[in-house]
Amino acid sequence: MRRISIFGSTGSIGQSTIDLIRRNQADYQVVALTGGQNIALLAKDARELQAEVAVTADPARLEELRGALAGSGIEAAAGAVALTEAASRPADWVMSSIVGAAGLEPGLKALEQGAMLALANKESLVCAGPLLMETARQNQTKVLPVDSEHSAVFQALQGEDIKAVERVIITASGGAFRDWPMEKLAAATVAEASSHPNWDMGQRITIDSASMFNKALELIETKEYFGVHPDQIEVIVHPESLVHAIVGFCDGGLMAHVGPADMRHAIGYALNWPNRAAVPVERLDFARIGQLNFRHPDPARYPALALADRVMREGGLAGCVFNAAKEIALDAFIAQRIGFLQMAQVVEQVLDQIMASQDLGNAVISLDNVRETDHLARNVAARCIDALTD
Ligand code: NAD
Ligand code: MG
Repeated sequence: MRRISIFGSTGSIGQSTIDLIRRNQADYQVVALTGGQNIALLAKDARELQAEVAVTADPARLEELRGALAGSGIEAAAGAVALTEAASRPADWVMSSIVGAAGLEPGLKALEQGAMLALANKESLVCAGPLLMETARQNQTKVLPVDSEHSAVFQALQGEDIKAVERVIITASGGAFRDWPMEKLAAATVAEASSHPNWDMGQRITIDSASMFNKALELIETKEYFGVHPDQIEVIVHPESLVHAIVGFCDGGLMAHVGPADMRHAIGYALNWPNRAAVPVERLDFARIGQLNFRHPDPARYPALALADRVMREGGLAGCVFNAAKEIALDAFIAQRIGFLQMAQVVEQVLDQIMASQDLGNAVISLDNVRETDHLARNVAARCIDALTD
């Protein structure tokens, strides 16, 4: 039996992971499930999967969680320290599907105790890629990509030598506003940005898809995970979201990964790696699909892509600054304090201010440095937003 934990089990990726576990429950012993505000769902899943411990990120909800688990024998815990403690409990495989930089420390703890880390939480690679990958190496374990594009690249690279890779092409659906006239974008609402044409995901990543901040994070994730140079990484708009990534090799051959827009494929691949096992996703019918379309992204529509290029080239803690500023700008957009296009303005201003004043491009990526820089970038972003809304 494999011991597994799911961080962010109540979210979109967490629920898809549980869907797969539930189908073969006898194969798994669930150690920890963690969530945030949805205590009822966390407790229901913990009871059903007979988890050892359930953790809510919010200490104010601990009593409620205790009540919901009463009589089950399942431990209840709350807060950031409880999350890292739960990640330290021995497990073979840990799903990292918390949203945002809050996923970094549980991910590191899981690697330190030797678990394989299935990583949906792209923000932790963007903030601290070298730290995460080095922690996996030191503990003789592995980070397995779960983001669909990175799972696709990883699959295309099985049995290949990374030195033979010429280019990595990441596809983008174009998000909710891909066909909107540019002049309408400034007034786009939170509700309009929260609906995705192809994928059913959490609200934050859905809005990040509309702005392509999600793709920006994924470009940086590609560099950190596969160690390729920014010049080798391309992004292409592919409205059907069926080709997830294409790897080009030095002999001109290309390996494209094609699959339905259902995250259970990528989660299942990480769950069963290095083997494959049946996953209940739709089987594609190419004659019915008929055609696949590709086009270059418009840089004016998606300023986040140029910011990602800058971050990849600056290196060091630029990714940490970028992610923290993006999280605060997204909060401000969701709170209707700033407009849709102002998110990129805020992130650019924060990068300008912090990267110019400190030598963060060459900084060592330690957990302390990441924490400090994350904090600084959030404060600078909050000040930029105050200035914009005055
Ligand atoms: P979601 O919002 O649906 O779920 C997020 C989960 O994290 C929930 O369980 C929530 O309770 C928990 N959480 C939120 N804030 C937290 C905090 N501060 N501390 C601890 N826990 C916290 O998000 P999602 O769509 O499932 O995305 C999760 C991660 O996976 C993100 O990094 C996202 O970019 C990535 N991802 C998601 C998809 C997708 O299809 N949803 C695809 C690729 C990558
Ligand atoms: Mg993705």
